[in-house]
Amino acid sequence: MVYQALYRVWRSQRFDDVIGQEAITQTLKNAITQSQISHAYLFTGPRGTGKTSAAKILAKAVNCPNSVDGEPCNECEICRSITDGTQEDVIEIDAASNNGVEEIRLIRERANYAPTQAQYKVYIIDEVHMLSTGAFNALLKTLEEPKKNVIFILATTEPHKIPATIISRTQRFDFKRIDTKDIVDHLAYILEKNEFSFEDEALNVIAQAAEGGMRDALSILDQAISFSDDIITLQDALEVTGSLTYDMMDRFILACQQENTAECLSLLDEMLASGKEARRLLENLLLYCRDLLVYQKAPKLLAEKAQHFTATFKQSADEISAQQIYSWIHILNQAQNEIRFTTSPRIYLEVAAVKLSEGISTEISSSVDNAQPADTQELVGLKEQVTALQQEISQLKNRLEQPQQQVQTKTQQHKEKKPASTAYRVPKKRVFKVLKEARKKDLVNVKEIWEDLLASLSVTQKAMLRASQPKAASPNGLVIAFDYEIICKKAANDQDFVLAVQNNISRMISDYVPDLVYITDESWPTLRQEFLSGHKDEADEDELTEQEEPESTTTDEQKEDLAVSKAQDLFGELATIKED
Ligand SMILES: [Zn+2]
Repeated sequence: MVYQALYRVWRSQRFDDVIGQEAITQTLKNAITQSQISHAYLFTGPRGTGKTSAAKILAKAVNCPNSVDGEPCNECEICRSITDGTQEDVIEIDAASNNGVEEIRLIRERANYAPTQAQYKVYIIDEVHMLSTGAFNALLKTLEEPKKNVIFILATTEPHKIPATIISRTQRFDFKRIDTKDIVDHLAYILEKNEFSFEDEALNVIAQAAEGGMRDALSILDQAISFSDDIITLQDALEVTGSLTYDMMDRFILACQQENTAECLSLLDEMLASGKEARRLLENLLLYCRDLLVYQKAPKLLAEKAQHFTATFKQSADEISAQQIYSWIHILNQAQNEIRFTTSPRIYLEVAAVKLSEGISTEISSSVDNAQPADTQELVGLKEQVTALQQEISQLKNRLEQPQQQVQTKTQQHKEKKPASTAYRVPKKRVFKVLKEARKKDLVNVKEIWEDLLASLSVTQKAMLRASQPKAASPNGLVIAFDYEIICKKAANDQDFVLAVQNNISRMISDYVPDLVYITDESWPTLRQEFLSGHKDEADEDELTEQEEPESTTTDEQKEDLAVSKAQDLFGELATIKED
């Protein structure tokens, strides 16, 4: 017998079999028993939540002569032909592959003919958001002139892409993500029916990886079955889902706890190299932190899971303060948001790893420390929001109150008053100095060796520099812009880093030992603008006293022209750099 994927074998055939969408299925059953059938439905929701299954059940239920309580019998000729996909009056269209006007026009024409065998002609249009504008217009016309005995069921994962004019002509049902527990129960049910043994925690891992989609959960379960011997173990589930093992997470969190940034980054490297997916990785770490908290406050809630907790986990739970864990959760949440829209999640992960290993963030208020035993996920979520707000407030306060950390630079000799702030202060004068002498050639040279430079650094240094780009270079200076203020600050205060970058650059570009000037990426457009509009007088005055005046023989006007042409030269090149 040909092996059939679990999600096919176990596709729901009755409304009552659709997991986790009781409100919807009950409403549909009522509509059928009361013959209140709409001529157009819109099923929206994440993938694998039962939209197309429900559509097919609906098609059967309205046509089944033996229908009881709104459920199809699944035995009669009509039911079976719909299940098999051979029923002429139930037409399934995948808009992802048929998005043309022609198809919809054909549907319109065919919809004019009465159903031949069934009572209702049912069109199921999957991924309806993929239709072209023309096709939507054609569809709209069809929906505007509803035919008796014709039902349209539109399904989509992206309802926001569907014109409001269409939505308003349909009865809309929003399918929600299926609860992890519901998925676990269903998987357990299927495995028991198939006489497969399994470890409970394996199903949890699979359900979590499926993110509320039953079809994904079943596909993963399929893989786990083919992967395992005679019992589906937690280890199998971790392997198949690409989740982190407890051992990996133990080591990672331990490194964070010990504020060992290098170890954190090297572990991260290891996890990514072994094919762990960024999103899953963050999810796993978040759950681990959540477990740490719950284990501290209400270990009983984790009774089922507890057998898998390692000695390291338990020790961490004993030693790490709740405040620290909240701080980590906050950082992980942030990273989760950041990687959502990026194609290069690695940088964000590395930044998160640096932050995680920086010890407790002082901005996180101690008021969140007193978590109650009833620590539910929701409560944690609320606390995070409070924490985030508190953090913002104290950051603002700090900017007003605390003196700035001094940056080790040559210009420190100018003992100017600095505004009180913990924020990184961009060394504007030094930036302008570089810009004034900037040459395209120098920047091109630096860019050429940039990848080699990265490769020459230690894991920690590499991670820091990877979140930066060279912006301008002169024979004596190099402006490097960092994506994050926190990394910029760290880089500027890290003499080893400065030396390593400088030494390696001078090794790769002979006789080039630039003064490194660190700025935040955010400040670059303003700096550039300021420089271009000539507001560099103060920089001129100070710097010129220190060094030989290179343009002493030129008049002010000539100097200005020179600066402009230089700037054009410089930024003409820079304009080709993509800046987001
Ligand atoms: Zn039937």
